[in-house]
Amino acid sequence: MKSKAGYSDVGTDKEALKAEWAEVSEKLRSEVGEAAYQSWIRPIAIRGFQDGVVRASVPTRFMRDWVVAHYSEALADLWQAVNAEIRSVDIVVQAERALKAAEPAEDAGQESGKTVFASPGADIRNEICAPLDRRFTFDQFVVGKPNEFAYAAARRVAEASKVPPFNPLFLYGGVGLGKTHLTHAIAWHIRQEAPSRTVVYLSAEKFMYRFIRSLREKTTVDFKEQFRSADVLMIDDVQFIAGKDSTQEEFFHTFNSLVDQGRQIVISADKSPSDLEGMEERLVSRLNCGLVADIHATTYELRLGILQSKAHQLVARIPEKVLEFLAHKITSNVRELEGALNRVVAHAQLVGRDITLESTQDVLHDLLRANDRRVTIEEIQKQVSQHFNIRLSDMHSARRARSVARPRQVAMYLAKQLTTRSLPEIGRKFGNRDHTTVMHAVRKVDELKERDTAFAEDVELLRRMLEG
Ligand code: ADP
Ligand code: MG
Repeated sequence: MKSKAGYSDVGTDKEALKAEWAEVSEKLRSEVGEAAYQSWIRPIAIRGFQDGVVRASVPTRFMRDWVVAHYSEALADLWQAVNAEIRSVDIVVQAERALKAAEPAEDAGQESGKTVFASPGADIRNEICAPLDRRFTFDQFVVGKPNEFAYAAARRVAEASKVPPFNPLFLYGGVGLGKTHLTHAIAWHIRQEAPSRTVVYLSAEKFMYRFIRSLREKTTVDFKEQFRSADVLMIDDVQFIAGKDSTQEEFFHTFNSLVDQGRQIVISADKSPSDLEGMEERLVSRLNCGLVADIHATTYELRLGILQSKAHQLVARIPEKVLEFLAHKITSNVRELEGALNRVVAHAQLVGRDITLESTQDVLHDLLRANDRRVTIEEIQKQVSQHFNIRLSDMHSARRARSVARPRQVAMYLAKQLTTRSLPEIGRKFGNRDHTTVMHAVRKVDELKERDTAFAEDVELLRRMLEG
């Protein structure tokens, strides 16, 4: 018989356990990143707690093996930090819910529940190519100053019938600016115009997942063969394999052998090759060898153009004023812009009223507030130098006197807190400093805030003024 001390307590402890799990999984999320979190951590269901062991389940064996191999230690450590009683986390297979999460849902189309269809074609395409989003074509891509170069490069690659015009084509830019859209567009175009060419598109995460599976199943030879028979290989979000050494190694070999055979490679990432942290030097230099095209942040004109095009597709009657308002207010990225427009249209259809400026502001008040609060590094530097009464140029200067170094550190700290910029990006804006300098500044300011309440209040005040 099972002792009473076991799961009978769970009823009362369940809430506590849940709260602990929320904390642990949140910490893990910031450690492993959003993609890995969604694939591996979110599907974990917590079942109970007994004798220092948390019992958790995932829907498939494969997931269990993966989670155990990669996250069980971190899970136990993090959990122990929250509740000292916990010694380990036991993960079992229980296919009770989230059956669809059997494999990581890595492609953009499926994640957001859009219509996706796989096209018929060569076996290897079906075997390893992720489905393409049918809306991500060149026709539906609105071109403006920030993306015209990337667009032109993508078109060139799509239209080249034999010799790759540049190899690799490396597209990079911030979240939601159209990288995946452009790579899918290349794939669609080639499938249409040159169906005999084998185009393989997949995310870097999927690449890694396949690779690791082939190691486990001892089918690495097949794995290599599959990739090496691609005419065009596209790897999306390559930043994912940063720091993953053996996957990088394999990718590097696949990459080289394809380039040597004159095949085209297209890669996307959120940063330029040199800015990707945790990438091997030789891989970075190979990535830099081809054409590197940057998709810049959107401009007002581009945003308005995109909104007009989407409104046209939605066949919705939307006053020009509303589109202008949205283009003005939602500046973060195209995905958010699209989301905002969809919400406004859906709301109007639901309540059966026309779209007006007022209804738009009403429907989107949360989003508009969030966009209002976005601060730039330049604003932070200005505000901080005024506050401490130093010259703006000292934010970039090499002077190390405490009277300027400290405000500079505060500005770096606020830049890290209030913007989405990476450490290297922040460093660059402060007179080309190294990312470790920024890291040090963040730590230093945190430390000072602990010790010195007046200083802490100062920083808090600055933050509030900037968030205004
Ligand atoms: P990324 O891969 O860079 O994060 P996506 O390619 O997924 O971004 O783009 C996000 C959304 O914005 C997609 O729905 C895409 O169709 C849309 N989008 C981005 N740029 C444009 C553009 N220039 N014209 C039309 N739609 C765009
Ligand atoms: Mg993408």
